[in-house]
Amino acid sequence: MHGVAVVTGASRGLGREIALALGRQGYRIALNYIHSEKEASDVVLALGEPAIALKADVGILREVETMAGIISNRWGRIDAVINNAGIARDGLLIKYREEDWDEVVNTNLKGCFNTTKAFVPLMIKAGGGQIVNISSYSGLKGKAGQSAYSASKAALLGLTYTLARELAEYNIRVNALLPGYMPTDMGLNAMDAMKKASEESLLKKLSEPQDIAQFISYLLTTSNITGQVFNLDGRI
Ligand code: NAP
Repeated sequence: MHGVAVVTGASRGLGREIALALGRQGYRIALNYIHSEKEASDVVLALGEPAIALKADVGILREVETMAGIISNRWGRIDAVINNAGIARDGLLIKYREEDWDEVVNTNLKGCFNTTKAFVPLMIKAGGGQIVNISSYSGLKGKAGQSAYSASKAALLGLTYTLARELAEYNIRVNALLPGYMPTDMGLNAMDAMKKASEESLLKKLSEPQDIAQFISYLLTTSNITGQVFNLDGRI
């Protein structure tokens, strides 16, 4: 039996595929969501015992600590954390609302700070582990209308490099992925951007959440990879 994996934002989209892939690999899965209770229950049903769904806003440390407490009581360990929960609120910066900035940065960036604070002590206790942060092409290249999203995703890369350095002594490996544009709810929200991404792809197609999930499954089997950013895109 593999260890325990926590996947944030696993009720839909990429997170759902990651939870299913890691479940097939033998991980006991704690999947997190914020609103979509029914969808999260459906993922638990698809995974079967012993998966659990935990509602929490990753942007709120107290709620993430509560999740960590539940997982600790149930399984006593955490081996992998996939920081996947993310939101986009698009709009030009000049007109951008402060609340939208705070919500995007809290979810996409502070969410990772919160899970690291709450889950790393359990990983240290388990003798090591892996953290995978889901960043974005927008974080590398910037994208008009995505100042908060791009900034939060770029900052995740700095956080990944720093955590990889800080946590290596505990055998905790920290990497980041840049998925290509995927036709999830988030991707489908911006049809023009989706069409452009497909045109810019050398293969003239969008990325598949299943591909990204398989990559993560493989990454979790490795033992010497840390502090890396993997670009899983068909755009150069
Ligand atoms: P999605 O379909 O919109 O799903 C987002 C997931 O995040 C949902 O499960 C949602 O839960 C959860 N979530 C949102 N805010 C949360 C919060 N505060 N606390 C806990 N969970 C929260 O998005 P996606 O396309 O699968 O994106 C997944 C990740 O990939 C994100 O980090 C995104 O930035 C990144 N990404 C996406 C693309 C793309 O083209 N789609 C490209 C590059 C990177 P509920 O269902 O409960 O709302």
